[in-house]
Amino acid sequence: MTETADQQQRDQRSGTAWYRLSDEQVAQELDVDIQQGLGSEEAAKRLAQYGPNALKEQGLTSPWQILWEQVTSTLVVILIVAAVVSAALGDFTDAVAILAIVALNALLGFRQEYRAERAIAALRKLSVPHVKVRRGGHVQEIGADEIVPGDVVLLEAGTLVPADGRLSDAANLRVEEAPLTGESQSVDKDAAALDGDPPLAERRNMAYMGTSVAYGRGLMIVTATGMQTELGAIATMIQQVVKETTPLQQRLDHLGKVLAAIALAIVAVIFILGLARSEDLKLMFLTAVSLAVAAVPEGLPAVVTIALALGAQRMLRRNALIRKLPAVETLGSVTTICSDKTGTLTRNEMTVTVLEVAGERIDLETPGSSADAGHNSLVPEEHPLMSLLLVGGALCNDAILESDEHGQRIVGDSTEGALVVAADRVGLSKALLEKETPRVAELPFEAVRKRMTTVHRLSDGRGDRPEWLKALPLEGQPHDGQPHDGQPHDGQPHDGQQSDGQRSDGPVFVSFTKGAVDSLLEIGNRVLTGEGTVPLDEPWRNRIDQAHERLADQGMRVLGLAYRVDVAPNGETPQPTEQELVIVGLFGMIDPPRSEVRDAVATCRTAGVRPMMITGDHPLTGRHIAAELGIDVEGGVVTGQQLDALDENQLDELVNTCSVYARVSPKHKLSLVKALQKQGQVVAMTGDGVNDAPALRQADIGVAMGITGTDVSKEAADMVLRDDNFATIVAAIEEGRMIFDNIRKFIKYLLSANAGEILVMLLAPFLGMPLPLLPLQILWINLVTDGPPALALGLEPAERGVMRRLPFPADESIFSRGVGIDILWIGLVTGISSLGLGYYFYSPDDQVWQTMIFTTLTFAQMALALTVRSQVDSFFRIGPFSNPAMLGAVVLTTALQLIAVYVPFMQSIFSTVPLSAAQLGLCVALGSFVFWTVELVKLVRRWRAPRVANEEKEESTPAKTGTNS
Ligand code: ADP
Ligand code: MG
Repeated sequence: MTETADQQQRDQRSGTAWYRLSDEQVAQELDVDIQQGLGSEEAAKRLAQYGPNALKEQGLTSPWQILWEQVTSTLVVILIVAAVVSAALGDFTDAVAILAIVALNALLGFRQEYRAERAIAALRKLSVPHVKVRRGGHVQEIGADEIVPGDVVLLEAGTLVPADGRLSDAANLRVEEAPLTGESQSVDKDAAALDGDPPLAERRNMAYMGTSVAYGRGLMIVTATGMQTELGAIATMIQQVVKETTPLQQRLDHLGKVLAAIALAIVAVIFILGLARSEDLKLMFLTAVSLAVAAVPEGLPAVVTIALALGAQRMLRRNALIRKLPAVETLGSVTTICSDKTGTLTRNEMTVTVLEVAGERIDLETPGSSADAGHNSLVPEEHPLMSLLLVGGALCNDAILESDEHGQRIVGDSTEGALVVAADRVGLSKALLEKETPRVAELPFEAVRKRMTTVHRLSDGRGDRPEWLKALPLEGQPHDGQPHDGQPHDGQPHDGQQSDGQRSDGPVFVSFTKGAVDSLLEIGNRVLTGEGTVPLDEPWRNRIDQAHERLADQGMRVLGLAYRVDVAPNGETPQPTEQELVIVGLFGMIDPPRSEVRDAVATCRTAGVRPMMITGDHPLTGRHIAAELGIDVEGGVVTGQQLDALDENQLDELVNTCSVYARVSPKHKLSLVKALQKQGQVVAMTGDGVNDAPALRQADIGVAMGITGTDVSKEAADMVLRDDNFATIVAAIEEGRMIFDNIRKFIKYLLSANAGEILVMLLAPFLGMPLPLLPLQILWINLVTDGPPALALGLEPAERGVMRRLPFPADESIFSRGVGIDILWIGLVTGISSLGLGYYFYSPDDQVWQTMIFTTLTFAQMALALTVRSQVDSFFRIGPFSNPAMLGAVVLTTALQLIAVYVPFMQSIFSTVPLSAAQLGLCVALGSFVFWTVELVKLVRRWRAPRVANEEKEESTPAKTGTNS
């Protein structure tokens, strides 16, 4: 579709002032039933008609652009000039050969860049958020790009609004519209139709693509998708994809420039030396150009990009989706992981196993323990208090039990789902309960309050009430807007019968509040017992606390339930007050730790990474799970409340010793990250809620949950765990370390190979020899050695022991840990062994010596590529087959070299002469000299640091220093 067509469609659609229509009118106009949603056929039809709900990609480099960048790079231009000069001087063979090599070089570069670009684009595609929609009467999760006009979308805190739409339901809905309006305060929304023509920012009954839900819940009928949305209209402004360069890439860019300057200086020296010896001017010019091209590691940034992009793909295979490329390299340096408990360390398979009401406890059968899940020990009629507990838990709840052909499944939060299931298993169906006592108001769950409230219309008068609410005494306050307690201070029981008679009749409402027990005790004032309500006095508080702690101490997540009854004589709906509640009882639910996390935590220990737990649950629950997983509990468990009491210095000190934090709010996460970073830690922090975004942004690696995470947290994150699993973070760290290792390896390889070539060219004149390599030979070596083997190094599998050493600091020099020294001496060894051989065979009358230097250098670089594959282990230990790409690259390069030496046509281009078997044998021998030297050095290093070589025997003791220093 063209821009103008987009524009026309948009004008046409926005011509409909949806905000002035009622939601029914909107639904009618868009031909959809709000309760049912679109049918799947209709949705497919509309998708074909309107296209996917996506903004046009911009800023993605086109293949042509990449190719153009390749052929216009400085070095290529220099080479083209050299070719033209050659041609002008009548040397067409050289000119054509140079151009051929330029073309090959550009093609290789293009292929690399293109692959990297695609890999990154593919990652971006995977970040498309999922949306809950009503379709065919069911709630489904679909990709945001499948949304069509008329879809009924469920909005909840943390959702990115996926399209433009008219709200048909808004419960405390607040939307953050900064991307559209620039206003950072979130805006209250409701579903009422508007008059007139308010500006975008004041259309309270509309929600727009690109904005996000800060609070509350809503239902939206989609009115426009993709480029037809308001965001689409300004998309050209915000869709510019910025190419992110990572810190390492920036450092390498800089390094490349420094090396280029050094290389050019050396080239100038060689040029002048040549002139002084009155070498042919044209030959010297071409030599200088070729040498410059060979010496500058122009491929380095591209190879790094590919290594990072391919690394990100590999991480994806292990369920870590990288959203920001720099994360790939930062991951390797992570020293601390702050993890949520629920779902990340545990399986997020919540099951209610204990119900506790005044003086009575029932242990429910866990699924699997009884063959027939439908039967349970609890018969609702015999346990009125228990059933009230279950009813309240199911009603004060946003989870839905959907049944389809695969059986029943939970849509929504797993804690809430567990409550719905628990009620359902004794025959209390949430859907039916909600029909009989519809929800009329609510206060959503918030990580800070740690509770949630819903208000339900119970009956029109005091007389009737549903059977399953028998236990509920209908004592309540007449709803006069001012909540008050009849006798707040006298400690008298509130006697239902007595107040009943005094109250005027009117609709009766019940509010259920569920949440953390401590948060309920703050707002409760009575307890429901078999004999009615009694005041929540000290003994009762202690009893509840003890029951709570008993369950938490077993690692259970504990939720409490309380209620409040309001009578509204004037028929007005009471708003949730969360005051003067009657406590009903407790739910204890188990959520077993993930078994693989134990191993992951152990790996962290040997890898010098500290795992920490940050949970909203009770300290005892946190401690139990932490201990079970091997997370350090010696430092105690500190609560959010205790954190609040600390000053900055105390906090800085505390984070060094305490690894488990409980009853925390999102703001504590932020201060914990900051405190850890002040200690020089590189922090990975997980989060799932809306309010976790600041902490995720602050962390060096913000980690969001792929399954349970909100869109807002994913947007803020560097990495998304597709399986919500802590072990995935550790796997990503391992990949990150491996990628960093590989980058160091090919830097070592490329630079020492270049150093060898330069050395040969530089030293030859001092030995009284003419130019040892011809320009085309230099270009050839550069092409065959820099390309495939360098790339193959990026595919090297992880070394033994990557997770048994301390993390490398992120800002550490690339040349540290011996890399710099290695480059120098390896360059020296390659240079001297090839030049030495050439010197031995030198004769001014033939070119055998030159062909031998040419061949030895190529072989030396192959041998080097094979041995730098591991920094520690011998080549014979890792074997030639553990990196097939490298094996292929080496075989290919060797074959090409033989062709250049033995095929007559190539001989005429590269000025080579065929070598005898003995001569070739010598080239192999001298070429592999560097291999044996590097292997010997590794052997000495292993011998000097036996910890690394024998680490298998010492699994439990982490390496105290890096592997080689
Ligand atoms: P976590 O860090 O383990 O994910 P949360 O912040 O989700 O912890 O929960 C903290 C506490 O809030 C829980 O211990 C529980 O008591 C309460 N809670 C959790 N989810 C809900 C909910 N949906 N409704 C009411 N209370 C909840
Ligand atoms: Mg949670």
